[in-house]
Order: sequence, then structure tokens, then C-alpha cells
Amino acid sequence: MVLVQWNGWEDFLEQFAELDRRFNNLDVLRSHSHRLLLHAGACIVERPDGSRRLDAQALAELMDCTRYARDSVGETSASEAALYTADMKDRDVAERAVVALARTALEQGEFTAYYQPKVELATNRIVGLEALVRWESPQRGIVQPNDFIPLFEKNGFVTEIDLHVLRQACTRLEERLAQGLPVVPIACNFSRLHLQRDGFPERVRAIVDEYAVPVDLIELELTENIVMEDLERAKAICRQLKDLGFRISIDDFGSGYSSLGTLQDLTIDVLKLDRTFLMSSESGERSRAILEGVVGIAEKLHVTIVVEGVETCEQAAMLLQLDDGVIAQGYLYSRPVPRAESDRQLDGAVLEPHEGCAE
Ligand code: C2E
Ligand code: CA
Ligand code: CA
Repeated sequence: MVLVQWNGWEDFLEQFAELDRRFNNLDVLRSHSHRLLLHAGACIVERPDGSRRLDAQALAELMDCTRYARDSVGETSASEAALYTADMKDRDVAERAVVALARTALEQGEFTAYYQPKVELATNRIVGLEALVRWESPQRGIVQPNDFIPLFEKNGFVTEIDLHVLRQACTRLEERLAQGLPVVPIACNFSRLHLQRDGFPERVRAIVDEYAVPVDLIELELTENIVMEDLERAKAICRQLKDLGFRISIDDFGSGYSSLGTLQDLTIDVLKLDRTFLMSSESGERSRAILEGVVGIAEKLHVTIVVEGVETCEQAAMLLQLDDGVIAQGYLYSRPVPRAESDRQLDGAVLEPHEGCAE
């Protein structure tokens, strides 16, 4: 904590930049090619009565404010400072309330898997499902994952949600298999936090083994940034998961910085192209050529391509023209739906696009 003379935000940022330079000029850092990222939060001390004293309580509140400001910075690739505003505290209080409710909500079964179909473009057949969590809160209604998964990633609770969704997927598969109904592989999302802990592959396998479900009906979706964080570790874990019989898919490909080059060493089955891929491919020839290239290389690597966010007939037609082996997932076919509705979709086996695209 430092107390500095306030001469406006620009001046503060200059002082902060100077501090950043000095730190990163230290020999210990430079000699190892390391870089320190500084995150700072600032809060302005007002002394309207001109007194030079701050009592202990006022000081403690100020320190809290600087922390709110600092924590608002989030993950960055450069040093960054933020100035406290009142909404930061409100947001923090709201987030804490959500997190405090989470465990009870889990015990009371408020977290439910919805399912979105993956469709083979050439035939409109459902070839897979993705399980996506929803929080059915008695107070707040259906809460979308973007409103709570990031919070649970901060405190680690997301790993429990992931395993809970996995169990629901296993239960569903087990019940359908027992009734002799058709099944397709179900993909579950796994947060990067799982991979930082040892024994993850064995732990997931042990859960699946509690159910009468063949392990290759479970697909693990790992986001591409997991892979980029520690490629060697990701390689080892994918190998183990593969040896245990799981299908592996790399999610959100194209949203970050990984390349097909880094992926070729991974034992994966599916590459999911992020929605942004599709959106940019509509913007011009060049982006379409990139999409074409990715699909071509993936094919050589024997990796199935799933394109996310297919919303229009034009997009589906464009993909089909590109390659008839491509799998599509998107609102054109179905939004994520509750289990009962997803069961009906599966029993029908073929899912026509909403808009009834022309042949
Ligand atoms: P994601 O894994 O990339 O999931 C795809 C998201 O895209 C889903 O949002 C899905 O509803 C949405 N989507 C599907 N088709 C379309 C489309 O045609 N257009 C548009 N605009 N969006 C489409 P959702 O269900 O809100 O999930 C958001 C994110 O929350 C997921 O992104 C995933 O990162 C995370 N998430 C959801 N469930 C879980 C979970 O059980 N565990 C973990 N760790 N993360 C989860
Ligand atoms: Ca996913
Ligand atoms: Ca995705």
C-alpha cells in the first residue's frame, strides 16, 4: 500500500509505468528473461475538512476499495491499473452472494444439464450432444452459465459443477441404454482447474465406471487455452485420457492463439471451431480460405471438425460445400434444451433445421 499525492489519473498512470519499468529492470528478472505483471488498484482519499488524519476504520475501507479496483483488472497480458468506482463494490457484494448460495443450490439439485445436438450436415442426423449446465434457481429463474461459471472458476467450485454434469450425462446414457433406446456420445465441459490437479484422468474414469456406460460415449471438452497454458502437461493428460478410453475434443479453437501445429501432437478426436471462425468466414474470401485450410488439415490428422454457432441455412450450405464430413452445432438446429426435449429429438434421430433450408 502506498499513499501518493493525487495529481490526476494521467499522472498516476505515469508513476505506475515508472514502477513497472523499475521492477522489470531488476537483474534477477532480466537475467532469467522473466517479466512481472503489476496489477494496481487506486482509490482517492478525500479530505474535505482539510484534516491530515485518517482513523483506522476509514483507512481499512480505503484499503478495501483499492482491492476492489485491483481485482477488477482480471487477467491481462500487460501491467495495468484501475481506479475505484462504487459499482466495483456492488458487483463484488453481488458475486459473493451468488457464490454463497452455490453449495446449497448444488445439494438441492438446482444445477441441471441441458443438451444441444451436434448434427451431421449431409444427413441432418444427430451424431452427438453437448451437456451445458443451467442453474434453475427458485429465486432467480434460469441462470445462464456465463453468469456463474466465471465466478466459480475463481473459487474452484466449477470443478464440482463439471463432475455433477458428468454424472447427469452418465445417468441419462445408462437409462437409455437399459431401455434399448438409441444413444450418441455426450460431451461434457471441463474447466482448466481439473488439469492442474493430479489424478484427473483416473478420477473421471472412476466416476463413469459407477454407471453401466461404455467410456467412449463420454467426450471431454477442453478449451484450447488449457492446452496453451502448458502444452507438455496437456499432451500427457490427453494421452492418459485416451488410454482410459475417452473421446477428447478441443473447444473454442480459433478464439485464442493455438495453431494446428501445436495440436498435431495431441491425441484428440474432435476439434471444435469457435463461433468467431464462422462469423469471420462470411466476411471474405481470405477467412474462408483459412477455414478451408483448417478443415483440410484436420481431415489429414483424422480429427472430426465440429463448427459451433451455426445459425443460418447459408452457413450450413457453405460448410457442406466445404466438406460433407463437417458436424454442425447451433441454433439453426436447436438451442440447448432440457433432457426430456433432448430425448424426443434423439428418438426422432433426424433433426431438420428450423428454417427448413432448401436442398
Ligand atoms: P461453450 O462450451 O463454447 O458452449 C457453447 C455455447 O454457445 C453455449 O452457451 C451455447 O448455448 C451457445 N450456442 C450454441 N449454438 C449457438 C448459436 O448458434 N449461436 C450462438 N450465438 N450461441 C450458440 P451456454 O450454454 O450459455 O454456455 C456458455 C459457456 O459456459 C460454454 O461455452 C462453456 O464455456 C461454459 N459452460 C457451460 N456449461 C459448463 C459446464 O458444465 N462446465 C464448464 N466448465 N463450463 C460450462
Ligand atoms: Ca463446450
Ligand atoms: Ca465452444
